[in-house]
Amino acid sequence: MSGLGKLRVAVIGAGAAGLCAARHLLSRRDTFATPVVYELTKNIGGTWVYEERVGCYDNGLPIHSSMYRDLRTNIPKEVMSFPDFPFAKHLPSFVHHTEVRKYLEQYCDHFRLWDHIQFGTSVASVTPVDVKGGWNGLAWDVTSNDGVDHSKSTTERFDAVMVCNGHFYDPYIPAIPGLEKFKGMLMHSHDYRSAEPLAGKSVVLLGAGLSGLDIAMELSSVDAQVILSHGQRPLTCPLPPGVQQAPPVTSVLEDGTLEFKNGERAKPEVFLFCTGYNFTFPFLDKKVGVKVQEHLVWPLYKFLIPPAYPSLFIVGICRAICPFPHFHVQSQFVLSVLDGSFRLPSREEMEKDIELDIAARRARGIATRHILKLDSEQWAYNDELAHLGGFKPLPRYWSNLYESNKVFRARDMLNYKTYNYTVLDNMEWKVHDLHGQQLQKPLAVKKQM
Ligand code: FAD
Repeated sequence: MSGLGKLRVAVIGAGAAGLCAARHLLSRRDTFATPVVYELTKNIGGTWVYEERVGCYDNGLPIHSSMYRDLRTNIPKEVMSFPDFPFAKHLPSFVHHTEVRKYLEQYCDHFRLWDHIQFGTSVASVTPVDVKGGWNGLAWDVTSNDGVDHSKSTTERFDAVMVCNGHFYDPYIPAIPGLEKFKGMLMHSHDYRSAEPLAGKSVVLLGAGLSGLDIAMELSSVDAQVILSHGQRPLTCPLPPGVQQAPPVTSVLEDGTLEFKNGERAKPEVFLFCTGYNFTFPFLDKKVGVKVQEHLVWPLYKFLIPPAYPSLFIVGICRAICPFPHFHVQSQFVLSVLDGSFRLPSREEMEKDIELDIAARRARGIATRHILKLDSEQWAYNDELAHLGGFKPLPRYWSNLYESNKVFRARDMLNYKTYNYTVLDNMEWKVHDLHGQQLQKPLAVKKQM
């Protein structure tokens, strides 16, 4: 604890999650000392800091952001925002990425976060130490390097650490037999910035997640011929011109031809992986025991807390979620753990809880690599954390509006970003299309919520 008996918390990363953590810590000065936010780049915003270069920054560190030039959000601003800080009223529901960066800067202004961020500082190690009188008998030594030349290394001690280092920066490329034989241009969406360099080319794009679909649409607009190769059920909504679907690529033949699961073949100029990212926590001491296996980070109680070291919090690892509100809920839950308003179960009980939760998900046929995908279960998760932590849950319209957007997207990926939403009150909202025509809310979502 700090001299005044307040808890010192380190936050790793000044992306949306780290900023949200800092905002909540700063709102509780009675209990928490001012946090230290370590940020390896010179900016706040992480993913939302568009960087035209690919590869490395001047200091040799890999470029963090996977943002591309023309990206507009896939979640309407009405539910993408932090619940206590709306996007500007004049903006449309789906904004360009530059507006999200601006929004995060305004969040920093509003909650006076800037002074607490150490820019150009990369965390190199996070080590637990046993201390008498510390929170749960535990403290953390955080060693950081000056990001410019790595010549200066500093270690500071904290009561708790919130890890908010993001998980969309270390490209995952699936093992495809013979991949080294591919003779065209091989790239990952992490390095995709704009469609023009691929204009008119033949492209096999592997992965039909949100980025894959969005990039397929961008490529269509520059007359690329795209084979969208994926393992999901075939998409039934209209696809952009020049885009056709295929099952996953299973191998690359001797002459560089790609073979798909159905035996068909293609020899594209570009093989573009939209296959997601690896989780990495290179700074975390091995003895903490947090493992990454098949895209599952575990063991973490409530997807946040390693039972053996319950003053470490890994924020924002869940996938298929509404990220900013999720960080808002998780951050408040972390504070409720640290200030004692929520008493954590014993280590054994937490371990059992994790085991049962994972077993239940597997029993429902969820593969290990999808366990962190909460999808529609995120709302029950958020509500549970709010209930346990004793803080306000998200407004009721949140889940319904978010889930409806998913339905609109699945129906019409070409146009859903032209819709505009209006929130009427805590429960109700409406949506209009580009021509101002009010749309029916999807029935399936109405029933489900
Ligand atoms: P990040 O934004 O990645 O921030 C992590 C920060 O930690 C970075 O600033 C990084 O420099 C820093 N850091 C990492 N390691 C260290 C270290 N060792 N020491 C110090 N600092 C470190 N979400 C939406 O809500 N809507 C969208 O439309 C949307 N579109 C997306 C499109 C793309 C292409 C991608 C990749 C993601 C998108 N997301 C979207 C998800 C987006 O990632 C989240 O909204 C959110 O920005 C994640 O925030 P974060 O703080 O967890 O991670």
